[in-house]
Amino acid sequence: MSFGSLGLCDELLKTVTEQGYAAPSPIQIEAIPVVLTQRDVMAVANTGTGKTASFTLPIIQLLAGSRTPHSQHVRALVITPTRELAAQVAQSVQSYSRHMNIRSAVVFGGVRIEPQISQLKGGVDVLVATPGRLIDLYNQQALNFDQLEILVLDEADRMLDLGFIDDIRRIQMLLPAKRQTLMFSATFSKEIKSLAKGMLHDPCLIEVAGANKAVDAIKQKLHPVDKERKSEMLIHLIKKNNWRQVLVFCRTKRGADILVSQLEHASITADSIHANRTQRARTLALDGFKNGSIAILVATDIASRGIDVAQLPCVVNFDLPYVPEDYVHRIGRTGRASSSGLAISFFSEDESKQLQAIERAIGHKFERKIISGFAPSEKKQALSTDDDEYGNFEADPEPRNRGKSQGRRGRK
Ligand code: AMP
Repeated sequence: MSFGSLGLCDELLKTVTEQGYAAPSPIQIEAIPVVLTQRDVMAVANTGTGKTASFTLPIIQLLAGSRTPHSQHVRALVITPTRELAAQVAQSVQSYSRHMNIRSAVVFGGVRIEPQISQLKGGVDVLVATPGRLIDLYNQQALNFDQLEILVLDEADRMLDLGFIDDIRRIQMLLPAKRQTLMFSATFSKEIKSLAKGMLHDPCLIEVAGANKAVDAIKQKLHPVDKERKSEMLIHLIKKNNWRQVLVFCRTKRGADILVSQLEHASITADSIHANRTQRARTLALDGFKNGSIAILVATDIASRGIDVAQLPCVVNFDLPYVPEDYVHRIGRTGRASSSGLAISFFSEDESKQLQAIERAIGHKFERKIISGFAPSEKKQALSTDDDEYGNFEADPEPRNRGKSQGRRGRK
């Protein structure tokens, strides 16, 4: 199957070729032709499957060449649960529409509202927004939805998890009833079905076979260790294997900040991304991680959904998440699209409940492998060791702009 057979116009075909996409992914094959017919869609797809392009490309095509937005008007609205995801989707819209006459903008909280109000004055074809800021802008009369043709709810399950249901329902009330609505979700739970029922009209249900394929392709490892030796073991693994780009998940914001300090103390460049950090600090951390000046990005779950770094080679679960779905979302940051990845989980005795829940959710038991020298105190003899096998997974043998350790930065 080629992009050419999906009904996309020449400008977009040129764009996907320039992006280096050789063939459409399964969700793109299913969704693009349906979205182009202006039908509503309910798609069950994980991040990492190419779902952003599966709605962005056809939307751009539907909007291009017809009427232009009036002042403060929006023609297509994409709602995302997190700021990071909003920024990434907006970047995709911008990049995919580079050969088309499409105006796009992104708005989210945590930054000044005035520049966003000015940006909307000229009207936009595609607006990417988080729910709270969108409502603020509407209340300040900076937005008008009379010209709205398309609504996309991205990561709808996450939106419900984060308690945005009331905001979504409020936003829905503000929009014209006659519109095309696309809903994307990693799961198709009872709650999502009920949300879809109220928002979609005769939707085409797209559930790509093997939606968890990306997860299946990821090599998953579990290393038992004493809780208080986790940082030491992480530093050992980073140094021993010369890891240069690893996303590390912690359960708490405080835990993330402490770990960054410990890594920096060990001369490893690191930064954190979590809800207590300013938008600017989060953007700087993510940019540093992408351009290679920061080797280790420590994140909490709230930040995990939005992070898309091409071919991220390795993810470490420093703490196991409480919610098994978060495990799937976390490890989904590695092995994106067609590249394979490695997901390593540290496990201390106090995390047995979380581990059981994860094993149930993913449908198999992890093999417990001890890193030599880090056997948990009560299990020293019981398990096999696993030391030398992480040497060569790096995706980036040529360091770009590699910075030296930058010492302790203030966390804001
Ligand atoms: P998403 O699921 O939208 O977060 O996309 C995951 C990653 O896959 C992004 O880095 C995209 O640039 C990339 N991608 C999207 N479509 C394709 C494709 N057809 N071939 C290769 N990579 C793709």
